[in-house]
Amino acid sequence: MSISIQIFQTGSVRIRPTAYTQPSHHSVIRRRAKFLTDRTWMPEPIPVYTFLINHPEGPILFDTGMSPKCKSSKYFPIWAPTIKMTSEINIEPEDCVVKQLQEKGIKPKDLKAVVISHVHHDHTGGLADLFEAPIFMSKEHWKAFSRPVYASIEGCAPSHWPKKFVPTFLEAIGGPIGPFPHSYPLTEDGKVVAVDTPGHVTGHISVIVFAEDTTYFLTGDATYSLDLLDREETDGVNDDPKKAVETMRKIKQFAREREVVVLVSHDWKSVERLEGKVVFRPSDV
Ligand SMILES: [Zn+2]
Repeated sequence: MSISIQIFQTGSVRIRPTAYTQPSHHSVIRRRAKFLTDRTWMPEPIPVYTFLINHPEGPILFDTGMSPKCKSSKYFPIWAPTIKMTSEINIEPEDCVVKQLQEKGIKPKDLKAVVISHVHHDHTGGLADLFEAPIFMSKEHWKAFSRPVYASIEGCAPSHWPKKFVPTFLEAIGGPIGPFPHSYPLTEDGKVVAVDTPGHVTGHISVIVFAEDTTYFLTGDATYSLDLLDREETDGVNDDPKKAVETMRKIKQFAREREVVVLVSHDWKSVERLEGKVVFRPSDV
């Protein structure tokens, strides 16, 4: 069996232009004030993708997408209205990741691992149904987001995580990979690894897949699109724009050192890039 990747779409979301991107020199307070008071919408929604990595040691799911329940007014606490104010969510009941996995004959307990880039609701909506699988994330991220009040204010839905949820922490035992000083192996053969890509949030991670035919870089929310990555333009909601730019430069550096297909969680073109194995060639900024 060779290593392959499948994309599952769990709905789409229309966001404010100032949430999509803002110049990196805007301070965190300024960028938040801007997207919270923005009354305009992006012309088109963006997708919410999750990625299934088929590996001989077992399937690995990278992020779990949105929950169809998140359209309900009770999904987010009433005192944390940020998501309702700043996004128009489209998702149908059949779009939840666990149903899409079932269609492929994969049950939650069949998963070798569920790896979470970060716990924003559009990456953890499937967690409640996936508690039978080991769920991994970075310790630094969990330290920052394990408090439910803070997490809710920051766009998470902790009341929908599995009961008494505590993730398994990734261990940085993999050594450096290109510009990334250390890595977290997710398989024994070292072909699937996580790397630190902070900036969007503290402790955010991305996943690199060394398949037989090519290398894939699954960004999570280290960027919202390949064009933004290429131009080193940060998203509007991150809490550390300087780190976000450093991370984007590292991903570009990695793509200069080898041929890489970069797959972004919120970029429609990820599907055709995966199908065509379209290599990302960074331009110089
Ligand atoms: Zn996201």
